[in-house]
Amino acid sequence: MSTIFSKIIAREIPATIVYEDDLCLGFRDVNPQAPQHVLFIPKKSIRSMAEVEKEDAQLIGHILLKAAAWAKSEGLDESGYRLVINTNRDGGQTVFHLHVHLLAGRPLLWPPG
Ligand code: AMP
Repeated sequence: MSTIFSKIIAREIPATIVYEDDLCLGFRDVNPQAPQHVLFIPKKSIRSMAEVEKEDAQLIGHILLKAAAWAKSEGLDESGYRLVINTNRDGGQTVFHLHVHLLAGRPLLWPPG
């Protein structure tokens, strides 16, 4: 199923892209919840974490490592950040293309609402 994120991958709609390789894309969230709010997504269309297959293990690991590397390149690793994968209704997922939120730049509360 095509989502707004597949359109970003295809460059059919604009986004502020901060990272790209063969497997994934990182771009700024249009409605940031922290001074730094970037979404890392696989180029492969996967609906949510609930749909991830065993064959996707390396891809998911790749995305997490690239998110961490980007945070480090921005000097966010020492102060810290949060990686979040909202999943389906109770998880608060609104776009059904798997994505990892990277939030940083302020102290983040816990537990989440
Ligand atoms: P989630 O609620 O976890 O599914 O997160 C979806 C995120 O996508 C939200 O934080 C939205 O602000 C963000 N978003 C929706 N449309 C766009 C867009 N066109 N460009 C960048 N971020 C978007």
